[in-house]
Amino acid sequence: MPDPLVIFDTTLRDGEQAPGFSMRLDEKLQLARQLDQLGVDVIEAGFPIASEDDADAVRQVATSLTRPVIAALARCAPGDIERAAAALAPAKRRRIHTFIATSDLHLSRKLRMTREACLDAAVAAVRLARTHTDDVEFSAEDATRSDPDFLCRVVEAVIDAGATTVNLPDTVGYSVPDEIAGFFRTIIGRVPNADRATFSAHCHDDLGLAVANSMAAIGAGVRQVECTINGIGERAGNASLEEIVMVTRVRPDLVPVETRVDPSHLFATSQLLTELTGEAVQANKAIVGRNAFAHEAGIHQDGMLKDRRTYEIMRPEDVGVTQTTLVLGKHSGRHAVQKSCERLGLTSLSRRDLDEVYRRMITLADRQKHISDDDLRAIASEVVGAAARGTTEQAGSRFGA
Ligand code: MN
Repeated sequence: MPDPLVIFDTTLRDGEQAPGFSMRLDEKLQLARQLDQLGVDVIEAGFPIASEDDADAVRQVATSLTRPVIAALARCAPGDIERAAAALAPAKRRRIHTFIATSDLHLSRKLRMTREACLDAAVAAVRLARTHTDDVEFSAEDATRSDPDFLCRVVEAVIDAGATTVNLPDTVGYSVPDEIAGFFRTIIGRVPNADRATFSAHCHDDLGLAVANSMAAIGAGVRQVECTINGIGERAGNASLEEIVMVTRVRPDLVPVETRVDPSHLFATSQLLTELTGEAVQANKAIVGRNAFAHEAGIHQDGMLKDRRTYEIMRPEDVGVTQTTLVLGKHSGRHAVQKSCERLGLTSLSRRDLDEVYRRMITLADRQKHISDDDLRAIASEVVGAAARGTTEQAGSRFGA
């Protein structure tokens, strides 16, 4: 039996704090409801100390959703923890997520704090958080660039203080898969009370490795991943939720975990986020991009029409996309033109008509990128008109007869 993988969605916190992705309260609520339908385990709804709006969003999400755990972010400071606890008060299931940087670079340059003071602040924050809820997550910011000996001390201490989830973020997206796997193996192997907490990865995509690093972390024993819809987040973004979920679905033979996410809601969730923020995903984005299930090349279209498994490793309907698109363009072949004509009800074309439609389509595609259904209808009616004027057609050779 595969282990359950906790999907911690931070679209409303890490994602929302990226430039261009801010959402109003009603929009956050709409997205939170969609995330609930999707089936994520934890929704990080905001960072209450950061603004009154964030606190409101956490409170509203905590009030309206009862199934998922609602998390709020807090630095390792009493004021932050109290603020997060207050915003989470209406939640049926609440988690305080407290964090502090553990790398020497962050400690000396940003926080101007010693390692010992960092350790004390982490332990005190987790203890305080535990007075408000039994579900406390601790994050060691910049964990992957922290001294492993010091990090082990911090992790052991926060678990002793009551942290139930320990998140070790690759805050700046600096790690590579083999390295992050070794990193988690080392920490989990060396911390004596590691079995009392769930380990979590939070990978950024600065080098395009966020999902690969998250998967490597899972292989090393991590059982929670922090991710976002469309991979949005600080800078180049976070690990993309839809990609992680579909890796677990498509490759259960190699991935030792399964999620509770219903993938048939993935596309709608991605679309909703796009609508709310006005930021589209790239056409070739895995799983949810416009071209993720589109085929234009003639050889691919021909293969797809014969057996879709030739070029599709998952069905578009599995992720909520209505159907595969066979895009007509200059790379398309006759087979796809014939199928497109059939789909448009143009079934009375002779084989010769179809050849002519195909030739005209290719000529038009040299001038414009995409051939729309209207273009194809116009071409077909020109061809049929020309054929009728020529009166050379034999009824028996009509296509589809
Ligand atoms: Mn982050």
